[in-house]
Amino acid sequence: MKETELKLVIWPNKILTRKCKPVFVVDEKIRQILDEMYNIMVKKNGIGLAANQVGLDKRLIVIGLNDQIFKLVNPCIFKKEGSIKIVEGCLSFPGLEIEVKRAKRIWVSALNHKGEQIDIEATDLLAVVLQHEIDHINGITFISRIPFWKKIKISSNLRKLKRGKYELPK
Ligand SMILES: [Zn+2]
Repeated sequence: MKETELKLVIWPNKILTRKCKPVFVVDEKIRQILDEMYNIMVKKNGIGLAANQVGLDKRLIVIGLNDQIFKLVNPCIFKKEGSIKIVEGCLSFPGLEIEVKRAKRIWVSALNHKGEQIDIEATDLLAVVLQHEIDHINGITFISRIPFWKKIKISSNLRKLKRGKYELPK
């Protein structure tokens, strides 16, 4: 797969609100997609990316946080605990930063890039990134995780995105 094949999708593209399909076989093709997603994420200075953010209807996410790299297939959260508020950005919402309330500690089960079953226990920022990306493949973006009054505050940013008036992440 050439590097130019996958492109970042910007809100309000409809694929961002679609629940993605599970991946049944973790083969070379899937590993290539995961690698390519990871490269795009790094290039755009992101710390997480979901497959529908590059136009693919698949339950795949990648995360790169400090020294931790995750390339996950069909991830799902099976337990949550506590709460935390962190200001989040999203590569599909250039220029927008919002504080979102999420669980502080989560437990995730997924397949890794080899197709092996893994469990991840995550806290704080890693837990937040995982929740943000798993939301993506469920068709949920971070603007539907904030109260209505906060949505009013960001409405001009959203109008700009709707009109295509934004600067793409470099
Ligand atoms: Zn995002």
